[in-house]
Amino acid sequence: MNDCIFCKIIGGEIPAKPVYECEDFIIINDVNPIAPKHYLLLPRNHYATLAEMNGTDAEILGRALKTVSGLQKELGLENGYRLVINQGADAGQSVLHLHIHILAGTEMSFTVD
Ligand code: AMP
Repeated sequence: MNDCIFCKIIGGEIPAKPVYECEDFIIINDVNPIAPKHYLLLPRNHYATLAEMNGTDAEILGRALKTVSGLQKELGLENGYRLVINQGADAGQSVLHLHIHILAGTEMSFTVD
């Protein structure tokens, strides 16, 4: 995906300093954080949305959740964290490369505007 900003980050075309990397995904800091700690988990393979993943692809998401839970200390998530996937227009998805927001570092309310 030549015009995908997250593919460019994953491919090194846009410099970034991943806080975690493995063969399936990388985790970076969000450039426009909405919480004191705001990371993005980016699958290395390009899926615009969840709908583009088949069952085997989706196993990456299970590994992603398990990996995040194992990085609580390294990422400063000990007091809790929230994982968000914005899927589609109503959810405000702005980058069409599936990603998981990891939010932490403050107490959060839970509302829909
Ligand atoms: P979403 O609205 O769920 O698609 O989230 C996209 C996120 O990507 C937003 O929180 C942006 O701040 C973030 N973002 C966009 N470009 C970059 C970038 N170059 N590096 C890090 N985060 C980015």
